[in-house]
Amino acid sequence: FNRLKSGLAKTRDQFLSQLSGLLRVGRRIDEELMEEIEEILIQSDVGVDTTLTLMDNVRERVKAEGLSDSSELASVLKSEILNLLGEDVPLQIKDEKPYTILVLGVNGAGKTTTIGKLASRFTTSGHRVLVAAGDTFRAAAEDQLSIWCERAGAELIRGGENAEPASVVFDAIHAAKHRDADVLIVDTAGRLHTKKPLMDELSKIGRVMERAHTGAPHEVLLVVDGTVGQNALMQAKVFNDTVPITGVVVTKLDGTAKGGIVIAVNAEIGAPVKLIGIGEKLDDLRDFAGADFVDALFA
Ligand code: GDP
Repeated sequence: FNRLKSGLAKTRDQFLSQLSGLLRVGRRIDEELMEEIEEILIQSDVGVDTTLTLMDNVRERVKAEGLSDSSELASVLKSEILNLLGEDVPLQIKDEKPYTILVLGVNGAGKTTTIGKLASRFTTSGHRVLVAAGDTFRAAAEDQLSIWCERAGAELIRGGENAEPASVVFDAIHAAKHRDADVLIVDTAGRLHTKKPLMDELSKIGRVMERAHTGAPHEVLLVVDGTVGQNALMQAKVFNDTVPITGVVVTKLDGTAKGGIVIAVNAEIGAPVKLIGIGEKLDDLRDFAGADFVDALFA
């Protein structure tokens, strides 16, 4: 918890220092206070829509419970934020062998790092892990992935430069079955400048996975850069329209005051945050726990 708290230091500073100035004994709850809280939430990148929904819910609670002193608001805010976050849905591999995880996200968001950390988590718990290098667009991406796989003790299936991504993924599924792998993690390209072809490519990869293996992809993780704030949500919607996302990974929360984005993800994308990145080390990828996150914000 302390690691999480210090990981979120910048967001906490921004959020909490301003909020604690407002939520104190003696300050009355009125519309002006509500609007000031809204401003803080929007500055922390919770986003306008999510902030308005959240504060409408807070107003209703204040009315229903007859609250009048602002010091009573912190617990209401915490529980309404938790409400928006929804239930924790940790990433768990199930019995479908190989359990397939398709990883999406724009370049630089932290896909490779996240795949490396995930692969290591699964190999450490005794699973056989294959990784498919579905980003054949960037040679450097394959090399990075290869370094992470070596470190994690996972096998990498690569198609080489200019191979068709969907066919690399197809081969990887067959290799995973043949080698009796427990988990197959599929990396994908994230180039933004040629958006349309990228989305076509991803949708094709999704279809190939569906056909080659029952229930695949079992998990579609979108990796978003937490420092990008609200823009990350716009990207998320584009990906979600292409291959429906089952979970979101928010990275780099250690380097940003925009951690409020985490609160908006579930409300705006309809997929829960499953993992958060709070640093570059192997154990800095954490299962997301809403209650801990909210506690760390307010602690
Ligand atoms: P990709 O292009 O999406 O594959 O992104 P990479 O995995 O190569 O990550 C881009 C940069 O972000 C690298 O320098 C990573 O070390 C860094 N990074 C990834 N996750 C985190 C995180 O949670 N915290 C911090 N501070 N840096 C991260």
